[in-house]
Amino acid sequence: QLATPHYRRVLLKISGEALSGEGGFGVDPDELRLIAHEIAEAAKVNAEVDPNRLRREGDKPNAGTQIAVVVGGGNIIRGAALAEQGVIPQAVADQMGMLGTVINALALKEALENIGQPARVMSALMVSSVAENFIRGRALRHLEKGRVVIFAAGTGNPFSTTDSGASLRASEISADVVLKATKVDGIYDKDPNKFNDAVRFESLSFDEAINRDLKVMDIGSFAQCRAQNIPIVVFDMKVPGNIARVVAGESIGTRVG
Ligand code: UDP
Repeated sequence: QLATPHYRRVLLKISGEALSGEGGFGVDPDELRLIAHEIAEAAKVNAEVDPNRLRREGDKPNAGTQIAVVVGGGNIIRGAALAEQGVIPQAVADQMGMLGTVINALALKEALENIGQPARVMSALMVSSVAENFIRGRALRHLEKGRVVIFAAGTGNPFSTTDSGASLRASEISADVVLKATKVDGIYDKDPNKFNDAVRFESLSFDEAINRDLKVMDIGSFAQCRAQNIPIVVFDMKVPGNIARVVAGESIGTRVG
């Protein structure tokens, strides 16, 4: 029996901390291997699905799930926190933060290719000797060829976030969904670490998500996804197989949309 996939092209947002291990600095090889494996497995989902039903124009048969990744950089530098220390203005600290995401993207690309999953890094900042510049048409070609595309440097603008980068790129590539990988298994009505009776939402509208001022993603990225009608699934990426489950259409976590 064929799976009934919801999503053919996804934008996966992972934080920098996911690459370092909890609260850590830099990149941890074990975490990298784990995440690369999860992404590569998710990329294989849908490969066997009826091509006439789900393909986009121009897609190759058996291409699987098209996966674009936006990586954060909190494991290396957070611009606002660095700027607060006084020496470096935030506009520059944020550039440093964005370069941190390039470091993460390079690491993730190598981890993916090590296990046979082709991948490319495209950066919003020009670092042309280490990564491709972001060019929409090229990104789409990579995806159609079955390469995981890792979008580095967020939006390319200071005073922004990689969450905003995720909703921006998702809009640009017409992703079916934004998958926001977190440490918790969805969005709760109150902090599940503090309240035993916290209840997880199965789904929320964009308006509810914005009105509740949820910390899980910034308002700007919710608003961007609302404008483009791209749902966001907030899910726990520590559970093995979860990325593959979401792209296969299982309802896990909380769906905003
Ligand atoms: N950043 C930025 N513009 C962007 C994306 C990121 O200036 O479009 C900088 C900002 O300084 C931020 C840092 O890069 O603190 C790391 O990104 P983020 O905090 O979003 O990473 P995450 O929390 O997802 O690991």
